Amino acid sequence: MAWTCTGATNAELIKNMAKHGLINSARVQAAMSKVDRSNYVRNKHYAYEDSPQTIGYGATISAPHMHAHALEYLLPLLRPGARVLDVGSGSGYLCAVLHHLVSDPESGTTGQVVGIEHIPELVEWSVSNLRRDGLGSALDGAIEMVTGDGRQGYPSFAPYDAIHVGAAAPTMPQPLIEQLARPGRMFIPVGTDAQVIIQVDKDASGNITQKELFDVMYVPLMDREKQAVF
Ligand code: SAH
Repeated sequence: MAWTCTGATNAELIKNMAKHGLINSARVQAAMSKVDRSNYVRNKHYAYEDSPQTIGYGATISAPHMHAHALEYLLPLLRPGARVLDVGSGSGYLCAVLHHLVSDPESGTTGQVVGIEHIPELVEWSVSNLRRDGLGSALDGAIEMVTGDGRQGYPSFAPYDAIHVGAAAPTMPQPLIEQLARPGRMFIPVGTDAQVIIQVDKDASGNITQKELFDVMYVPLMDREKQAVF
């Protein structure tokens, strides 16, 4: 299914994904249409293929349909003005789409997206990707790309209405649950050999519920020293 959505342009890729039911929300479709994936990949030849791509340092940019799934599960919390944390931000692609979902230039509402990534070279590259994609001015505060261990979250800007985790945690990281707003939602792959996406919800009173969504295969959330460097 995934590869049938490949397009010759970004617009075609997103249109094909919507046609095949991989994007179901008009808001996600509009936001993904604003982000040209070719600005976030190493090999532009495969930019509009619905598949993951290596971005160096043992990291990959996720397949567009995985990004779409994550966005759709988080969507109820992604209102204009919301604050979002993207753990393992890699290429910066998802931070760009999240920015378009939480900032609305028409009403002048600006949300905040914080991307945290532990490989400094990837953080630097993601910033240049965001600039190339026309988001240079958003880097003045609406988008913050920081270097650090995402397993600890990023308390300086907490609480977050939504947290996306782009690498598999061996066990549920408690600091991330603590940094969720009330209400707040996290989308996180958990597990080692077998991984499952867990949706963690914190309600207005602070009660936590966890729901298993589907099986996945992500690169692990790990120590920087241990991450294979290619
Ligand atoms: N979502 C991103 C990248 C996914 S790959 C994209 O689509 O471009 C997962 C990323 O998590 C990698 O960039 C990896 O370097 C990062 N990562 C792994 N362990 C981490 C940790 N402890 N803290 C922060 N980032 C981590």
